[in-house]
Amino acid sequence: MKSLCGNSKQLSLLSRKRVVITIDGPAASGKSTAARLLAKKLGYLYLDTGTMYRALTWKALRDKVDIKNPKALSDLARNTRIFLKPESDLNIRIYLDGKDVTSSIRSPEVNNYVSLVSAAGGLREVMVAQQREIANRGSLIAEGRDMGTVVFPEADVKIFLEASFQERAKRRWKENKEKGLSITREEVETELANRDRIDSQRKISPLKRAKGALVIDNSHMDIPQTVEKMWEIVTKKMKC
Ligand code: C5P
Repeated sequence: MKSLCGNSKQLSLLSRKRVVITIDGPAASGKSTAARLLAKKLGYLYLDTGTMYRALTWKALRDKVDIKNPKALSDLARNTRIFLKPESDLNIRIYLDGKDVTSSIRSPEVNNYVSLVSAAGGLREVMVAQQREIANRGSLIAEGRDMGTVVFPEADVKIFLEASFQERAKRRWKENKEKGLSITREEVETELANRDRIDSQRKISPLKRAKGALVIDNSHMDIPQTVEKMWEIVTKKMKC
């Protein structure tokens, strides 16, 4: 683990402890890229929990699981092996029952169904247990919707990353265009609005700011500026 604050005595204590930093926020707020870069800067593990819900959604669609049936979804989660493999640049490859599904889980179809699947309580319990298990391996940056509220309520640092709806839609639309996907701006806006609504209004683990979370609105920041701001928050919170 890299040192956060130089070689101070305080840090040597800190560096022996497992540190958990949570980053929550809505879709297309830039969480994944910023969290990955921050993890790299700190030498921490990076846990992108959205990929786990996406992978289960992909499997549910492939196997025609009734996504309105919570029991069918819990069974699906219990009977699925998800493996997140970090690459050298900290990008993550996602394996589902041994199959590489890294690109498939970003499809428009998965985007449209993931919020419905991830609202199921039993399925979430299985995922949360796996996420906590991963955290036992070392200091980490955990990114998602309920990291600071439910999964790691005792996290050392909690960040809530947000941006205006228009800015998030613009970013997602640009991303899709760069990937060669022909999705209109209106379609992107509808998908984002639906996900925002379902993710923040569901009964179990809704998207909300955790108690003690520091908010970054990055509507007018690029990724390096966002990472810089996160770094400032982390080092200040750790009292460097
Ligand atoms: O982060 P990403 O946009 O890839 O997440 C996809 C979806 O997975 C979210 O819209 C949300 O429905 C679900 N999710 C969740 N809890 C998390 C992470 C993601 O419910 N911790």
